Amino acid sequence: MDDTEPAIHLQGIERRYIQGDATLEILQGADLAVWPGQSVALIAPSGTGKSTLLHIAGLLEHADAGEVYINGVPTSHLPDSERTTIRRTQIGFVYQFHHLLPEFSALENVMLPQMIRGLARKEARERAAQLLSFLGLQERLDHRPAELSGGEQQRVAIARAVANAPSILLADEPTGNLDPRTSEYVFSVLTQLVHASGFAAIIATHNMDLAARMDRRVTIRDGVVVELA
Ligand code: ADP
Ligand code: MG
Repeated sequence: MDDTEPAIHLQGIERRYIQGDATLEILQGADLAVWPGQSVALIAPSGTGKSTLLHIAGLLEHADAGEVYINGVPTSHLPDSERTTIRRTQIGFVYQFHHLLPEFSALENVMLPQMIRGLARKEARERAAQLLSFLGLQERLDHRPAELSGGEQQRVAIARAVANAPSILLADEPTGNLDPRTSEYVFSVLTQLVHASGFAAIIATHNMDLAARMDRRVTIRDGVVVELA
């Protein structure tokens, strides 16, 4: 095991949902550490808690117990404002559906998070154009989401997620909504980006071929994270 610090470390994560009289025990002491530059595929059947785990890792949701360390900093007791700052600056999130803003161009969608963070328009524009070009979208900068294919939309969403140069990239079935060929292409640019940028990445997917190309594969079994071969 690497002796540097993990970019993200989930320790003893518990999460349950109350449903009427029943309690659903989803995560029951889940542990996962991911180091900079490492990509981890999270492969588990529907309903086992992949999204829950990613939301907790991305500080979008609180665990009932356990701790999320982001670059060594424990986050569970931080005020919401600090959790939000960490999320904005250190974590990028890609969802199954792109959630791009329809009235803005690809370029603007990638500029916005940077400007929210305080970067000047010029710098935000340069970085957005660079990222979109890296993802093969240099000819699509001025297109709105509706003028892009599904795979292109998802690549813009990936560029937006990493616009603020996060140290951690979380993706929840990012190619789940795409046909196999497009999915293959989006996944390959995503993994190239992870390796080029040194993100720690956790990517939930059902696609075993894509998962096979990542550095590690894990699943969720009985509420805990289990390493796969
Ligand atoms: P996955 O992403 O692996 O399909 P989820 O993390 O979305 O699984 O959900 C895990 C389980 O928790 C599912 O059984 C789901 O119905 C349940 N669940 C998720 N969110 C809630 C919620 N807000 N309230 C109640 N149950 C929930
Ligand atoms: Mg899910």
